[in-house]
Amino acid sequence: MKKSLIFSALNTRATDNEKRTGVNGLEKILYEGKSKTICQGIDEKSLIIHYKDDATAFNGGKKEKLPGKGALNAAISHLIYKYLAENGIKTHLLKVIDDTSALVKKAEIVMIEVIVRNVAAGGFSEKYGVPEGSALKNTVVEFCLKSDKLGDPMINESQITALGLAAEAELSAMVQQSLKINQLLCRLFTQAKIRLIDFKLEFGRCDNQLILCDEISPDSCRLWDADTGKKLDKDRFRRDMDGVLDGYRDVLRRLKNV
Ligand code: 5GP
Repeated sequence: MKKSLIFSALNTRATDNEKRTGVNGLEKILYEGKSKTICQGIDEKSLIIHYKDDATAFNGGKKEKLPGKGALNAAISHLIYKYLAENGIKTHLLKVIDDTSALVKKAEIVMIEVIVRNVAAGGFSEKYGVPEGSALKNTVVEFCLKSDKLGDPMINESQITALGLAAEAELSAMVQQSLKINQLLCRLFTQAKIRLIDFKLEFGRCDNQLILCDEISPDSCRLWDADTGKKLDKDRFRRDMDGVLDGYRDVLRRLKNV
């Protein structure tokens, strides 16, 4: 849908802020992230997210433009968000606008990343000296502080509450929701013949409840082909492997066929 149609579609007129020059000459940019641009939405309670083609890794140490990545991540994330919403998860997604943008609820982002691991890989394997692909006796939930400046350091529950980043009850709700999301995602990806190795979630506070925010895509998940173990996610970019977007395209194709 054309940006100008969002406002009429939602029966709302653009405010002066929204008419200021921004992405596509229409919206006011509020925040330029590494892989997404966040713009003012149709009112004070909404935002527009634009997915960019920029790929970054190692806290911005490796950067490249991958034409088409924004649209692939947007399509995958929107498909997953709709599936999660249908299964009782409260999310920020209000409306898909076009191939690379969505209207979302404005939320106060909890400055914690929740990492869920079903299989050892990546940072977990490096930190604890466990070969990638090793089975885990239980699902692992970890937290990182959302801070590019500090390189998203790992943080534990008592440090989170001590710093006032989230209260104990809120943290426990985030863990419960993350485990529920993990169950739902494992079910979805299994149907797509993909192993969900690990992933990162972000939550926000909106109308006195926690809602799922940010994207769920091959940028934020490790996804391995169930038969061959082929990596279909951002590790291909991080590790200088070829066919990065072929992996993303494969994920989208398989999810669409579920
Ligand atoms: P690790 O801690 O092994 O590097 O990452 C665990 C999982 O969380 C991986 O699927 C990785 O893609 C995701 N992840 C960790 N930190 C970030 C982050 O800052 N941004 C994104 N998009 N994903 C992350």
